[in-house]
Amino acid sequence: MNTTTSAQLFEKAKTFFPGGVNSPVRAFRSVGGTPLFIEKGKGSHIWDADGNEFIDYCCSWGPLILGHANDKVLDAVDKTMRKGTSFGAPTRLENELAELILSNNKYIQKIRFVSSGTEAVMSAIRLARGFTKRNKILKFEGCYHGHVDSLLVKAGSGLVTFGNSSSAGVPDSFVNETITVPLNNENAVKEAFEKFKNEIACVIIEPVPANNGLLLQGKDFLNFLRIICTENKTLLIFDEVISGFRMSFCGAAGLYDIKPDMITYGKIIGGGFPVGAYGASHEIMACVSPEGPVYQAGTLSGNPVAMSAGIAQLTECLSKDFYKDLETKTNYLVDGINKINPFPLFKMVKLGSIFWIAFTTKTSINNADEIDADSMKYFKVLHHALLEQGVYLGPSGYEVGFISQAHTYEDLDKTIKAFEISLKKLV
Ligand SMILES: *Cc1c(COP(=O)(O)O)cnc(C)c1O
Repeated sequence: MNTTTSAQLFEKAKTFFPGGVNSPVRAFRSVGGTPLFIEKGKGSHIWDADGNEFIDYCCSWGPLILGHANDKVLDAVDKTMRKGTSFGAPTRLENELAELILSNNKYIQKIRFVSSGTEAVMSAIRLARGFTKRNKILKFEGCYHGHVDSLLVKAGSGLVTFGNSSSAGVPDSFVNETITVPLNNENAVKEAFEKFKNEIACVIIEPVPANNGLLLQGKDFLNFLRIICTENKTLLIFDEVISGFRMSFCGAAGLYDIKPDMITYGKIIGGGFPVGAYGASHEIMACVSPEGPVYQAGTLSGNPVAMSAGIAQLTECLSKDFYKDLETKTNYLVDGINKINPFPLFKMVKLGSIFWIAFTTKTSINNADEIDADSMKYFKVLHHALLEQGVYLGPSGYEVGFISQAHTYEDLDKTIKAFEISLKKLV
């Protein structure tokens, strides 16, 4: 595979951006080699700057559930854009996207649009604190919630800990407001609530943790969180930036039929444009400015072009059997790969249209500390072998893959073949 142009572009990019990129994983550090600079995408395929073609399972890290350059999304964007790109005043498109979401979602009553998943989470945390008049928040090791200061916290030693900041620049005083516990562990959560009685504003979880492998949680555990939060007047936040409009139209809340107090969205909601959102009951949302005392604003929030992309994409998601078809395709791919797999440690984990490749002897992995960092060496080999075979996965073994509406059975058959050749390199 010739990657000369990408290599040249990357050298130049390194003179402009830290590490040559505008978001860290893109730099290919965990798989090694040169990141591919993408020139264009259509449907399930992308082309790099050297003209190499790939079947894409990264899908911009999840947002592109219809695939690249979907005609319905492009038409909507084009039509809206020609009327102007931003006004900083309300437009009917915000109403349309909100109505589309709220009228099909029994878990939230009101919503506020922002411009990224991080911003959605940051605002939801502030709202939870403002609503409960408490400061502490509880998060789980192995869940990612964007680069919000108080959430860049990893567990310390012990079951219930204040942990350590996972980034320089986060003050200890912020970290000390964040309690970190392991996933899938009721006792740890109980212990935290006993230790910090009447202090915890919210518990935040990815109900389908998909940013550090795919660490599936039992419905029982999520139900337990619902109950213990209610008992303690603590708000339960489902961070559905990745699972929202992915597991079902109502995300993981819909899949498990559990009603959190607040939900955050991002990724799919913007149809490939920068949109995030947070939603809750009328009562909780009434605390948000200008109705209430919790301040939150955005120059480009509810941007009309982004709204129209979201409307076009989510309308398609509501079509009959949309999620069933995605899941059937995912099962086809995973079963197909499992059938030809010659490498004993290789394991695929899946839920709905998300899949994750793990290298383990364990039958299941539901917790961050069950992932063996050393096993990433296998992913590195597999990732490069797959690129050679025309299959593009997100460049890290901790990242999941996504199936879009645009993936065809021909794509899936080709991908199975590519895995067959690539996995042999690991044996
Ligand atoms: C991607 C993601 C975020 C951050 O969203 P950005 O748009 O990258 O800021 C937050 N939470 C979860 C669960 C995510 O998957």
